[in-house]
Amino acid sequence: MAEIHEECGVFGVYHVENAAMLEYYGLHSLQHRGQESSGIAVSDGETINSYKGKGLTVDVFQKEKLSAMKGNTAIGHVRYSTAGGQEAENIQPIVSKGHNGCLAVSHNGQIDNDVELRLELENHGAIFQGTGDSEVILHQIQYERGTLLERITQAARKLDGAFSFLVMDEDRIYAVRDRYGIRPLSYAPCRQGYVISSETCAFEVMGIYESYDLKPGEIVEFSKDIVKHYQYTNDISHHMCAMEYIYFARPDSVVEGKNVHTFRKESGAVLARKDQDLHADIVVGVPDSSLSAAIGYAEESGLPFETGLFKNRYVGRTFIQPTQAMRDQSVRMKLSPVESVVSGKSVVMIDDSIVRGTTSRRIVQLLKSAGAKEVHVRIASPVFAYPCFYGVDTSTRAELIGARLNVEEICDYIKADSLRYLEVEDMREVAGQIGLCLACFDGKYVTNLYTHGKELED
Ligand code: SF4
Repeated sequence: MAEIHEECGVFGVYHVENAAMLEYYGLHSLQHRGQESSGIAVSDGETINSYKGKGLTVDVFQKEKLSAMKGNTAIGHVRYSTAGGQEAENIQPIVSKGHNGCLAVSHNGQIDNDVELRLELENHGAIFQGTGDSEVILHQIQYERGTLLERITQAARKLDGAFSFLVMDEDRIYAVRDRYGIRPLSYAPCRQGYVISSETCAFEVMGIYESYDLKPGEIVEFSKDIVKHYQYTNDISHHMCAMEYIYFARPDSVVEGKNVHTFRKESGAVLARKDQDLHADIVVGVPDSSLSAAIGYAEESGLPFETGLFKNRYVGRTFIQPTQAMRDQSVRMKLSPVESVVSGKSVVMIDDSIVRGTTSRRIVQLLKSAGAKEVHVRIASPVFAYPCFYGVDTSTRAELIGARLNVEEICDYIKADSLRYLEVEDMREVAGQIGLCLACFDGKYVTNLYTHGKELED
């Protein structure tokens, strides 16, 4: 139950009748990646029309609005704002109508060198509407010369950081992934065309079970009913965000060929193998993202998996307030302990991560107030000690409890009877061949941090 947020989800539809409606279903499946705003841009082959607003996809788009958005090619976006704030101008897709024609861009991630690029573009006359880094992508593409593919290629080579983005003109979509492969991006054939998504769970709701991942540094062009692949750089590495597996992605998604639920279950099993000497009665997962790891722990340890915590699904993010008092209250509103399950028991409580420590402390307190005899906290990720600069809203280093206290001190703070984390090496073992970014755990960032370095200071 991490107190961190994914920044965005992107979804594209190429050459499928009534693209806006399919786009709506795609964004709805990606809603967990961003709930603050939602937007769709549709091309009818001649022009691009867009509609976007603050709120969930179901609130922004009604049937009449979608029916009025004619065309068979579309891109969309769900957003949780960090880079750029909540202004309406930062809601995506960002659409421009310039001398090169119409362009729309949807972006997931964070551009590290956006400040430098923005300054350079402004010096060359670019006028920015919003404050977000995604607009830098659009302006950079417009600034370059040549065909659209050449302009995207040049722009992608200049961008540094984490990005998976879609670019749409009147009759094509280009999907682009950063050279480090930090954010996921997949595509799949759909009827006579294609769909492109941040996560494969959006394909599965459409009955599509075969999909392909973009490679790091790749541009995939969807035009004239065919797919073409280009590598904008061969200087690539494989650093999929570990947090996608731990917390962000839906358990039914497949990221880099590995099902997210399976990854979490295996992480739970590793934790259980380290607990040979622990005598407990039941295993309880903090819903929802820790349930898979709790099942894995229970299977490996032979202890019963129980629903010891119940999640109220109707509490929106509106209630997550910045003050400590409101955060405490929001935990109570979201989670209830099941007294008849935990009372008198020694509980192994599995959670995905500890960020500030306050949420874990409240959950331990909830279980104990419901009569749990002991609460042994097991975290299905390593100690979270460094902020993320790749499109995830984490706290500053000073706010991260893992940056200030050692494991024993954190255990005291959250008032658990014992505390254990996964090690970085355990994560690598579970990932197998998949290369991971683990920077928020080990501080080894894969890019030049440009102006962000100062945020690492205590
Ligand atoms: S720093 Fe952490 S949250 Fe950010 S991309 Fe890397 S693993 Fe993911």
